[in-house]
Amino acid sequence: MTEFPGGKPAKPATETLLTHMGRAPAQQFGFVNTPAYRGSTVVFPTLDALDDYSIAYRYGRQGSPTTRGIEEMISELEGAAGTLLAPSGLAAITLALLAVVSAGDDILVTDSVYEPTRAFCDGLLARLGVTTRYYDPRIGAGIESLFTDRTRAVFVESPGSHTFEMQDLPAIATVAKARGAAVIVDNSWATPLFHRPLALGADLVVHAGTKMFVGHSDAMSGTVSATAQFWPALAKAHRQLGVAVGPDDAFLVARGMRTLAIRMKEHEQRALALADWLTDRPGVIRVIHPARPDHPDHAIYRRDFSGSGSLFGVVLEEGPREAIAAFVDGLELFSMGYSWGGYESLILPSKVAHVRTATRFEPGGTLFRIHVGFEALDDLKADLSAGLARYRERL
Ligand SMILES: *Cc1c(COP(=O)(O)O)cnc(C)c1O
Repeated sequence: MTEFPGGKPAKPATETLLTHMGRAPAQQFGFVNTPAYRGSTVVFPTLDALDDYSIAYRYGRQGSPTTRGIEEMISELEGAAGTLLAPSGLAAITLALLAVVSAGDDILVTDSVYEPTRAFCDGLLARLGVTTRYYDPRIGAGIESLFTDRTRAVFVESPGSHTFEMQDLPAIATVAKARGAAVIVDNSWATPLFHRPLALGADLVVHAGTKMFVGHSDAMSGTVSATAQFWPALAKAHRQLGVAVGPDDAFLVARGMRTLAIRMKEHEQRALALADWLTDRPGVIRVIHPARPDHPDHAIYRRDFSGSGSLFGVVLEEGPREAIAAFVDGLELFSMGYSWGGYESLILPSKVAHVRTATRFEPGGTLFRIHVGFEALDDLKADLSAGLARYRERL
């Protein structure tokens, strides 16, 4: 699925992989991009062909050149044996979990996990006889004490959703490996450009492709990548669940991947600049950004990540609902909305404390999550300045 004119460079840089992998113009009449293959039926000319399971594409549900190109590219970026697309980030998470657990198993999930992941664990997984226990995201090697003979998987999300704790993945993976449990990491924030969990001992990596991979808020997708050890189980679960991705969404993932490196660089710089600026604003108690030295887990960030994402948290002096409404309703550039990863800036009041069961999260004020897009920084600052003034007037 990949053509490097003149052969594959020995060690292509990430930017080169992003621009050249997963497409093969010679197989597409010379057109640069692999089109959205719209297809269910694949026809076989002979009985021999029908019986030949080495044929790359046999049925639409199992993938097309549109999906395979992306899967190949993400495998290369994550250092994985294989990757599969799912119709959403949540579908990727449920697929990864279902690939490794059985009735009677027990799994350990970070207390800082994306809330719908928790809902799946406490809902459908519980119904299927899998027990979930939540652990402190900062537990590190201490996770050992939570293991039982039935612990089959550990779910890591670093940084945590809305709260941005960084997890000591190598320490957790070392314990899990010794106890025969799979480590699954949600790597949506950093993307494989800035963090490669498989190299740090993880077994499966999931992405909400909806966010940074697509990058334009116009499609849903997810991916799961696995080591050689876990690839057969992942491929089997994907086949049995039938979580196929539509060709247009897959095409938009491929389109987004081409600019991922330059977008991530911009998101990183802008998010950091805005985070730094916010720390000195009146009414701001603190900014929660793993790449800032004042983040409590900054050492882990420095050790395990080579860059940071578009999302961070900001804690304002505790304010009533009326102040929060005055702040966010009057913003002209920041929109409120779930999801993130697009070119447009977003803000969301974060209400996460009530979902925790293993730890307490006390921001010490009113917490907001910010996704920094590509508007001019000065315009974003002016928008937030005015918003913060409205907030403070109502304290
Ligand atoms: C959004 C998100 C998901 C889920 O992705 P969807 O495509 O919305 O299902 C999973 N993990 C994290 C960290 C997310 O932010």
